[in-house]
Amino acid sequence: MEITGGIHQIDGVKGANSYLVITPSAMLIIDTGMPGNGQKIVNYIKALGKNPAKIDCVVLTHADIDHIGSAAELKKLSGASIAIHAGEAATLAGKEGFRPAPGLLGVLLKIITPFLRFQKVVPDVIFQDDSEIKGIKVIHTPGHTAGSICLYLSPKVILVGDALRSDQEGKIKPPARRFSLDTTRAKASIRIISELQFDILLPGHGAPIIGKAADKVKEMLKQMK
Ligand SMILES: [Zn+2]
Repeated sequence: MEITGGIHQIDGVKGANSYLVITPSAMLIIDTGMPGNGQKIVNYIKALGKNPAKIDCVVLTHADIDHIGSAAELKKLSGASIAIHAGEAATLAGKEGFRPAPGLLGVLLKIITPFLRFQKVVPDVIFQDDSEIKGIKVIHTPGHTAGSICLYLSPKVILVGDALRSDQEGKIKPPARRFSLDTTRAKASIRIISELQFDILLPGHGAPIIGKAADKVKEMLKQMK
């Protein structure tokens, strides 16, 4: 589904939202869903009449399995390079396990992770704090994880990974506390996001926030404890 000029949410991807960004000079995929979505992403690009071999880069907002699950598949299918923040690179490369979640959820995740068929991949591009890729601003927004990033496409559109989420009605929400590594840093990152100008916000989970999205983030921040 095309959300706005050249920016698509790839239909049917399981796990986190996966986005295709086509600019005049580059084609990028932002996040890949759970393992097993690589072919679906490639098929979506083909259906647009585009060549998947022309994907410049697969940018991962952070190394949770629902975002990086199909990165290795996608690299094999398209030859695209893989980019992630330094704080997440070891998990993607399989040198470190997935971050532990607290409580019962953590126990469950530990049990099911070996069955998810995660394929590790060594990233080609590693971001250090604020950075840039193909003319797109990469903003370090830690909290949900240590190396979480947002992509600031233009004064119109921002992609936030799991720094913020929305429900299916498009109401904006902070990241779930039980999934966040550091809620104080997560809030500081939301403040950084709220100081930018954008009309559309594309979260890792939930529906796109379309129209006056920056104001909605500011409003939500005011109500956060
Ligand atoms: Zn997620």
